[in-house]
Formats: sequence, C-alpha cells, structure tokens
Amino acid sequence: MKYSKLFPKTLKQVPTGVESINHQLLVRAGFIHQEMAGVYTYLPLGWKVIEKISNIVREEMNKIGGQEMLMPVLHPGENWKKTGRFQNFDVLFKLKGAGDKDLVLGPTHEEIIYPLLAEYIKSYKDLPLYLYQIQTKFRNEPRAKAGVLRTREFIMKDLYSFHVNDEDRNEYYKLAREAYIKILRRLEITALVTKASGGTFSDLSEEFQVITPSGEDTIFVCEDCQMAINKEIAQEKCPECGGKLKEEKAIEVGNIFPLKPAYAEAFDLSFVSETGKKKLVSAGCYGLGVSRVMGAIVEVFHDDKGIIWPESVAPFKVHIVGLDGEGDKVYKLLLAEGVEVLFDDRVDVSAGVKFADADLIGVPYRVVVSKKTKDQLEVKKRNEKETKFVTLEELLEVINPI
Ligand code: ATP
Ligand code: MG
Repeated sequence: MKYSKLFPKTLKQVPTGVESINHQLLVRAGFIHQEMAGVYTYLPLGWKVIEKISNIVREEMNKIGGQEMLMPVLHPGENWKKTGRFQNFDVLFKLKGAGDKDLVLGPTHEEIIYPLLAEYIKSYKDLPLYLYQIQTKFRNEPRAKAGVLRTREFIMKDLYSFHVNDEDRNEYYKLAREAYIKILRRLEITALVTKASGGTFSDLSEEFQVITPSGEDTIFVCEDCQMAINKEIAQEKCPECGGKLKEEKAIEVGNIFPLKPAYAEAFDLSFVSETGKKKLVSAGCYGLGVSRVMGAIVEVFHDDKGIIWPESVAPFKVHIVGLDGEGDKVYKLLLAEGVEVLFDDRVDVSAGVKFADADLIGVPYRVVVSKKTKDQLEVKKRNEKETKFVTLEELLEVINPI
C-alpha cells in the first residue's frame, strides 16, 4: 500500500475530550473514527488489525471443532420476553419494527441460538455441537468510554457449545480455555485467567484479564502462584496457596462460563437420550471482545511516539520511509516476496514528518531508503532503538526470521 493513497492520513491533534491512550493513538494514527459516544468506524488500517485478530480467533475456534456461522443483529423481542431478559438486561437496545413489533439489537445471542437449535436437535446423536460467530453486538452502555474498550457497538466472537450432560460440557470448557490461552499468546498479550464466579468458587466461569493501569476492572493476583480472582470476591489471601494478594487494574478481554439450564427450559432445547429419556441440553458460552482486544493491545504496547503493534496483528509488517524519491524498487521487491508493506512515497512531506508518522502508526519494521545510503537499507524495529544497514537480501532475513 502506498501511503499517498491510504485513507486517511495521520492527524496532528486529537479532538478535545479524548483521554484514553488507545482512543488518542488509534484516532491520530488513522485506525478509527468516532461517530458518536461509543460508536466508531474502523478505517482501513483499523479494519486490517480487526481482521487479523479475528483470523487468529477463527483459527483457534476451528481447531476445537467450532463451526462458524452468522446470526442476525435484529432479534424478535418475544424471544427476549421468554427468558425475562427483555425487562432485565440493563443495556438492551429495544426498538419497534413494522406492525409495532418489539425488536432487540443483539447484545449476545442465547435468545437466537437456543430456539434455532431446538428446531434441529432431536437425539443424543445430534450432540455435541460447537457453533460460533464473529459479529457486531449492541449494548446501550451508560458510560461508553475509553476508546474501543467500552463501546455501544462492538465486535465480539461468541461460541456456544451444546452437550448431552454437564460432564461433557466441562471437558469442552477446558479445551476452550486452552484455545483462549493460545489466542492470547498469538496476540502477544499477557492475560491472566481470572476466577469470575460472582460469589461461588466454581472453577467454571473465568475472565481473561489484561493487566494495565487503564483497566476498568480490579482483580487480585497472588504474588506467589499468580492465581487471579475478580474483585467481586473479596479475599485477603490466595484461596489456592495462601499467598499475598496484590490489587491490579485490568481489562476483561474474554469470558467463558457455563450457561444456566433456564435457557434450555425457556426454549425447550432438549433431546432423547440413549436410554430413551427426554433431557435438557447442557451448554457453555465463550465470548471474546475482538474490538476491545485491539484497544487493549494499544494500551499495553505504545510509547510516547505512538503504537507498537505485535507482528501478529500489525496492519503491515514493513513500513518503507522513502526519501529523495527513492523506495519504489524495494517496495516492489518486498511485495513480490509476499511481504505486507506500507510505503511512504509522499514527495511533499519532510523526512521528520515521515519518521514521526511511522512511529505513530507502529508497523514492526521501519526501512529507510534514500539516495545517501545507496544500496544499503536502514532497518529498525519499532520497539528497538538500534538501526542496522543491510542489503535487500539481508533485509528479507531480518524480517522473516526462521
Ligand atoms: P464488561 O464487564 O466489561 O461490561 P461483560 O462481562 O458484560 O463486559 P461479556 O458479556 O462477558 O461482557 O462479553 C464478552 C466480551 O465482549 C467481554 O469479555 C469483552 O471483551 C467484550 N465486551 C463486552 N462489552 C463490551 C463493550 N461495551 N465494548 C467492547 N467490548 C465489550
Ligand atoms: Mg464478562
């Protein structure tokens, strides 16, 4: 991609009132645009990052048998009345459709997937099933803030698993937990698996929490064994090893938990067992905030100059800063090698501005091509100070370490 063609360019200043780091940097660098409180456009750079995060999530969900589908955003209000959540879900967006029909903008999809499965599941032979989607969710958050961390419209991956009994569900829960750990490792963010049982000590119901001062959640982490527990469960000592607990601020990026039988009851999601008995389906829910992850990554990986993207989700791998009208040859060669490159080919902009933009956008490798250095390319990693002079061949080795 040539930077001269990219929409939009970086901004010198952020609009007033923008306080959080992810909001400031993502807006300034041209990844997102705010439409109103809690509602954003993902601009071309931002969308690339969202797609990379989604693809990592997708691959790991597929590996644990997940089948991807897409459920609607617009839900019949009557399904929500059946579970009582039409009245009780505090951040539900409700609207009226044609014929004065009650409608809901989906904040989560139990009210769609249970009645859907109730039409298809007949026997124990139809189970287990693992279905997921990556989709836009709506929640009328009273305080939409902190950039893409808490929005009214956001992208979530939600997987629902359905089983013949709780034992089978609990086994799958462990697999899903491992998949989440792999996803977070691939995203290069450290997240603590945090007990989030809201008062009980069930091992099932965990949040994936990224420690950072801008986090809205408070968790307690054991200084000895790293066990983490949500603040809702007031404790002085680690319930596992008796170690000292330390209070930390954190961002919840994911949440996995068993679903209450009440959903299966509400929609009569049942099956005929091997012994011919009618039984309720047992289920679990596994959510991950794709757009929130983008914000959390920026909160963790940045410096005073801009974003420092982990390679796995960076919009490009290499950012060529072309000086003195140079760079086109290197750009084309890298493209031919299949490298994702952003080429700052602007002729009317100073070297200083180009360097500042490269730091702000945060692509992992910066390569400077100029008349001065002739065949030598100056390469620098975004998270390192040191620069190196290399030939094009050496550059390929540097950026594609085996
Ligand atoms: P929170 O406690 O932060 O309000 P939640 O527990 O209500 O979140 P879940 O229903 O568990 O959220 O949703 C699964 C995931 O979706 C969360 O772990 C989070 O990553 C993401 N998410 C939830 N609400 C929002 C939001 N308003 N904006 C962006 N992402 C969100
Ligand atoms: Mg949650």
